[in-house]
Amino acid sequence: MAMNVAQWLVNSGAQYPQELALARGNEYLLDYQALAQRSAVIAANFQQLYQLKAGDKVALISSNCAEYIELLFAIWHAGLVVVPINAKLHANELHYALENSQSKLCLVSNKLFTDIAGFPQELPELASIIAIGSEQYQRLYVGKTAAIILRSADDPAWIFYTSGTTGKPKGALLSHANLFTMVENYCTDIDAIEVGDCLLHAAPMSHGSGFYALPFVFKGGVNVIPASGQFQPDELSELLQHYRACSFFAAPTMVNRLIDYAEQQQLTELKDFSGLKTLVYGGGPMYQQDLVKAQQVLGNKLVQMYGQGECPMTICALSKYHHQNTQHSDYKKRLASVGVPMASVQVKIVDENGQEQADGQPGEIWVKSPAVMLGYFNNAQASANTLADGWLKTGDIAIKSADGFITLVDRNKDVIISGGSNIYPREVEEILNQHPAVKESSVLGKKDSKWGEIVIAVVVLDKTQEVSAEQLDEFCLKHMTRFKRPKAYFFVEQLPKNNTGKILKTELRKQFG
Ligand code: AMP
Repeated sequence: MAMNVAQWLVNSGAQYPQELALARGNEYLLDYQALAQRSAVIAANFQQLYQLKAGDKVALISSNCAEYIELLFAIWHAGLVVVPINAKLHANELHYALENSQSKLCLVSNKLFTDIAGFPQELPELASIIAIGSEQYQRLYVGKTAAIILRSADDPAWIFYTSGTTGKPKGALLSHANLFTMVENYCTDIDAIEVGDCLLHAAPMSHGSGFYALPFVFKGGVNVIPASGQFQPDELSELLQHYRACSFFAAPTMVNRLIDYAEQQQLTELKDFSGLKTLVYGGGPMYQQDLVKAQQVLGNKLVQMYGQGECPMTICALSKYHHQNTQHSDYKKRLASVGVPMASVQVKIVDENGQEQADGQPGEIWVKSPAVMLGYFNNAQASANTLADGWLKTGDIAIKSADGFITLVDRNKDVIISGGSNIYPREVEEILNQHPAVKESSVLGKKDSKWGEIVIAVVVLDKTQEVSAEQLDEFCLKHMTRFKRPKAYFFVEQLPKNNTGKILKTELRKQFG
């Protein structure tokens, strides 16, 4: 089947020509007609000035900026494959991703241009680098539009680099059909989008927030890029006052920062958050007490998404309905879950031999969906390890309830085996975080000659409170099975996190494990 996700911008340009498409902070930049026109001109210049041909890879390295949107669609319009790379990576890691993806052109923010300017000498495939906003970039705006290049549904559209917390990052190859399914499932399982609804790009556009640009372009919404290009709670709160019907995607750590800010500033749901329609959180565990607090401050606006780069933003969702169905006897259990599989997704929970587990038994979660990646680019071994008979092995351990709710217990590789028993760090963290003096915690295994591993906890304390390791141990004894409780505590100022807010357990293992 012929398909190209860029067709959605062409359609929106025709259907909503005068509707606002793109804004930077409070500044209105382009309507749909102008955005569609501009992307099609850039596409023509990719073909003419840079001789790029359908299937070629184009890397994009920038913090959030308005140009991100026109570039994504220009790249697809010309039948090319976008390779968004996390702008916070070290130069060596950028080099690796550019080489591994075989990118022919790289668009990079002005700030990072000098860091990579020398790369083409070492990477023969990389013919040109353009700094976004430079004179060379402005030349992309000049000339005639290109006709859209049709692709087949299974042609690649996006190479998504995993965060590489266990070795070199891998490039998940996502097709046009994968992205189409992601958009469909946003509309069926996350939220309905009306023309003029706004998407605030608070999280990195190289990851989740960039994926969510697609349903908003598809439905004629407004992509709003914060002027700072970063997640800043004060700026985000101001944008929520300026625009109406706003949605945004945020990792749990971002939600917590927003809620801390709202509490400090005494912001209220009705006065300050009335512009918020939907906050989609996910990408990492959201602890119960944080979720309850966020709902108190923001109201019933939260939807949870569970997905991974290999099945972008599309595995399970916990709807607004389930977030507010307080009368249900399993309300708390449901809040602790990642919800139910999205419309296109089939899920099974399997043991080490790939045999399906009974409801209530932990096992690895396997996923089948038209949203599942084609494979890892240039990495047949990793693809074979991850994909089998059309199933994606997620590496997440989960439990399915009889009524279909999926609860993640942990990452496969984070499970602690102590004296032969499996201990899921998330369960211990959930309890530790309930102690009033604990702001955040991360629980991991430390090698031990007697037990194989012992449980240890790295803890960030609330600045206004004090607590000793003994007091935390007493607290744990009251609330959890004896053998699961941490045998040692390490107090730190902050936990190491990556760009998308995930706690880097590998770093903690190096330091404490
Ligand atoms: P990434 O590929 O970087 O998006 O990371 C995907 C991983 O993040 C998943 O395999 C999960 O381990 C974790 N994750 C994603 N969404 C959630 C969620 N809602 N709750 C808990 N963990 C999540």
